[in-house]
Amino acid sequence: MSIFIPDSETKLYGLLGKTLSHSISPSLHNNGFRDLGLNAVYLMLETKEKNLEEYINSLKTIGFSGWNVTIPYKESIIPYLNGFSSLARASGAVNTVLNRRGRLTGYNTDVIGFQRQIEESGVNLKDKRAVVIGAGGAARAVIAALIQLDLADITIINRTVKNAEELAKLFREENSKQNFDFCSLDEQEYAEVLKAADLVVDTTPVGMYSNNIKNKIVINPNYLHEDQLVIDLVYNPLKTEILKEAEKRGAQIGNGLPTLIYQAEASFKLWTNEMPPKKKWYQIAENAVQMIEEKDDAEVEA
Ligand code: NAP
Repeated sequence: MSIFIPDSETKLYGLLGKTLSHSISPSLHNNGFRDLGLNAVYLMLETKEKNLEEYINSLKTIGFSGWNVTIPYKESIIPYLNGFSSLARASGAVNTVLNRRGRLTGYNTDVIGFQRQIEESGVNLKDKRAVVIGAGGAARAVIAALIQLDLADITIINRTVKNAEELAKLFREENSKQNFDFCSLDEQEYAEVLKAADLVVDTTPVGMYSNNIKNKIVINPNYLHEDQLVIDLVYNPLKTEILKEAEKRGAQIGNGLPTLIYQAEASFKLWTNEMPPKKKWYQIAENAVQMIEEKDDAEVEA
């Protein structure tokens, strides 16, 4: 394989976040650039919260053509942008930025990615009930997608109940067709809602490798059942505890890999106007997850 050498014409892209060592995005995008013969490169753009404004200004000065945004900047990047797509506006979160001559536009391709994953699951959720666990950036994208998919009832369950309440209020103000509710992670509060849900989406990082969270499942799985679709947005590991428990109870399950691939594909298309090879991206992502697993196991043993 020939080595790619950047030059003065190379277009710069990247992933802006706080801790990025486990990200798969550089492998996907760089592979897409090489496959399509594009003179472009995708880099890790790690910065601390207190330096965010200065860092974004540097990206503009250097001439980055665009970048993805991840934890914890999907909402805090908003004040530094000049415009938004309708989905970024609807979700109140941005995961993709396009720089057109210094004017930064924010998009949310997580919404597109999650919507596509649901559509491809074959489950029709029109007028159905969903439970979304978590109230962060990913939850915003998931809820915006569920609105696009015409669900009737969306309940947000979160550790910090105030965050769930604020999110429910925000979506309620903008969307009169859906019913938005919220509750805490107290089992007595969520038991009945969870049982009644047709779709359960875990948007918390609980269950993810290397996050030092002792409890690997965020809810009591006894309320999951065979008439549900259960999705965990985490993809490392490919089958988290909540998915294992849901599967045991006969539910249809899905990990976060399809959303990851589809959101990356949509960002790639926005930046380059070209489509990367999807099948190959799945393979790359699965190999990358396996490498993360092996690295983590080695670290635990060391
Ligand atoms: P975020 O904005 O930091 O939000 C995290 C949410 O999880 C918050 O609601 C937080 O609750 C909750 N949470 C965190 N730790 C918890 C714990 N130990 N117990 C219970 N709840 C906990 O993060 P995000 O951007 O939404 O991302 C969340 C996860 O989704 C990450 O693992 C990320 O990798 C994944 N994700 C995947 C994709 C994909 O393409 N598959 C896309 C986006 C995100 P509080 O409000 O109480 O803090």
